[in-house]
Amino acid sequence: MNIPQSEQLFAHAQQIIPGGVNSPVRAFGSVGGTPRFISHGNGAYMWDVDGHRYIDYVLSWGPLVLGHAHPEVITQIAMTAARGTSFGAPCALEVELAQLVIDMVPSIEMIRFVNSGTEACMSALRLARAYTNRPKIIKFAGNYHGHADMLLVQAGSGVATLGLPDSPGVPAQTTQDTLVAEYNDIESVIALFAAYPEQIAAVIVEPIGANMGFVLPQDNFLHQLQQLCRKNGALFILDEVMTGFRVDLGGAQALWGLDPDITCLGKVIGGGLPVGAYAGKADIMRMVAPSGSVYQAGTLSGNPLAMAAGLATLKALRAPERWKKLHENTELLSTGIASVLKKHNIPCQVQSVGSMFGFYFLHDSNQHIRDYATAKQFAHTTRYARVFHQLLKAGIYMAPSQFEAGFVSVAHTPTDIHYTIETFNTIAKNL
Ligand code: PLP
Repeated sequence: MNIPQSEQLFAHAQQIIPGGVNSPVRAFGSVGGTPRFISHGNGAYMWDVDGHRYIDYVLSWGPLVLGHAHPEVITQIAMTAARGTSFGAPCALEVELAQLVIDMVPSIEMIRFVNSGTEACMSALRLARAYTNRPKIIKFAGNYHGHADMLLVQAGSGVATLGLPDSPGVPAQTTQDTLVAEYNDIESVIALFAAYPEQIAAVIVEPIGANMGFVLPQDNFLHQLQQLCRKNGALFILDEVMTGFRVDLGGAQALWGLDPDITCLGKVIGGGLPVGAYAGKADIMRMVAPSGSVYQAGTLSGNPLAMAAGLATLKALRAPERWKKLHENTELLSTGIASVLKKHNIPCQVQSVGSMFGFYFLHDSNQHIRDYATAKQFAHTTRYARVFHQLLKAGIYMAPSQFEAGFVSVAHTPTDIHYTIETFNTIAKNL
């Protein structure tokens, strides 16, 4: 592809920004090639600086559930910005968004807004430790909860179970209380509870393992986890930063009947602006300062601009026909991709829930990915990289990594989706 402007910008960016990007996966490291620098977006599409148009299935990694530059969101942002962007004092929009989220997400009674999913998860764990007066937490291999030091423990078995950090710069002391269990393996959690009686403050989990590709919970895994937490006096923290307002209007907890003590939110809740939140049962949330003693603060937290974008997004999304169509289009896409790959005997695992989907290329059709170990072992990353570039050439933008989920917006039409499936068909034929 002819992308001189992107190449030039990337060369310059690499001189002055680490890796040329402000978040690692954007650099195309695992698929190779030059990342596209984006000039603008509209609806289901975005355009790079060289004028190529892409059907966008990344959507800023999830937030843009209405598509790019949705008129209702842009109008609210513009109107709010004209009145001032941040006050460092309470504003009515915070209360309105808080009430809307409480109305939409079943387990939430109180909420605190922050500026990212990272902050939400970090703060939720501080609160859980304070509430239970216990030091340890359990997370799952392959789950991502942002880049707080204590959560950068996710790599494979030996390293993971020892609680060794994934990144240099994270002191071992910071992660020594982070225990790692295997996703979809309740026995691994039972073993940790047995090994550390009355020391585990919380279990934090992604309801869909969407940072190792797209791994669905199996065999009642999440319900068992919730029960195990209750039995052992630990808090059950559902990280719905990605699934919130994406798999269902009330998140994975509404879809699957879960009742977490604390929920972490991000992405869609900010409608494309930086917002995160941690939220949950009132007796727990009341421990947060200033009503309680657990400190957490933010200069720009709850700023009117971000609140306005989130409000406009959630209100627009609630229209029942809109949600139904979004769900149907996502299903159309995932079943379409699965059927053309199957037709051409390309081993794959394709799934979707609500407006999220994922597809793995496998080495063998008998393989099934159910956790981080099998994701690393079975995912055919070189094939993914090849297909990724062919899709890009055809004007389809998927995540530049096999280990990320895909997203559909209300702006994607059946025509966009049929074109995507047909392109998969052509590519699969020649693989
Ligand atoms: N939790 C989950 C499940 C996520 O997917 C992410 C980001 O992708 C985060 C937390 C961190 O959110 P942020 O990138 O806004 O800090």
